[in-house]
Amino acid sequence: MDLGIRGRKAIVCAASKGLGKGCANALAEAGVDLVINARTAETLEATAEELRAQHGVSVTAVPGDITTDAVRAALIEACPAPDILVNNAGGPPPGMWHDWGRDEWQAAIEANMLTPILLATALLPGMVERRWGRVVNITSQSVKGPVPQLGLSNAARAGLTGFVAGTSRQVAKYGVTINNLLPGSHATDRIAALEENIARAQNISREEASELRQGQIPAGRYGTTEEFGAACAFLCSQFAGFIVGQNILLDGGQTNVTI
Ligand code: NAP
Repeated sequence: MDLGIRGRKAIVCAASKGLGKGCANALAEAGVDLVINARTAETLEATAEELRAQHGVSVTAVPGDITTDAVRAALIEACPAPDILVNNAGGPPPGMWHDWGRDEWQAAIEANMLTPILLATALLPGMVERRWGRVVNITSQSVKGPVPQLGLSNAARAGLTGFVAGTSRQVAKYGVTINNLLPGSHATDRIAALEENIARAQNISREEASELRQGQIPAGRYGTTEEFGAACAFLCSQFAGFIVGQNILLDGGQTNVTI
């Protein structure tokens, strides 16, 4: 399917691996020129080269921590007039509410609420002026159904969700959409670390921990980064202009909600 976005320009944050890379890959496949970011320069450049070689689009790598003003400014300098912004960053660590103080809260809010809000705030005026834009935020299934040990993520991402709910309705009439994609369990490095923790805690093998986790998902398996990227590319497509302010679960049915 031709998504109608060939030749458009996108900034994709935290995109050298995992879900962000899945989004970058699907956009590149649709013919979108990319500016991608992650902290580790070598991994990022390797991903950029892979995308260029596979899809023949222009890919600029801007290494650095997306939660800092300087790196966000560098991304905007590399791509001052993007048509598409995909917001992403690492998630906060798990833990218990009584162990989190101001520093932990500040870090979670910076990464998973303020960073996407500040990037959108910087780039929305240009999209509005050009009468076309797509912003997709990678959040989490924990926005719809809280994961108790991920309290920092539940709360910070809920703040971003509130911003999107109102702002998306203010920019929609200018051809600009903002939506959130809510991943459940996907096969990325992050899942590998979680499985190792479960295996250690329950004294089982990594394979058994993986089976246990995947068995808790109605689809019976983890999601793939390709599936996730395809959903992102569709939200960024010419055909998704009427999808406004939505929170779309990609979780194989794991979040047990009716709507
Ligand atoms: P991943 O496989 O570990 O990949 C994370 C990517 O983000 C890497 O490219 C990493 O590269 C980059 N990154 C991390 N922190 C960054 C920062 N501060 N600045 C710039 N780049 C950064 O993770 P993932 O599974 O794709 O998860 C992506 C997001 O989705 C996270 O917020 C996660 O909490 C959320 N999520 C994931 C799942 C899942 O099942 N995978 C489920 C729910 C929510 P560097 O390390 O080199 O920076």
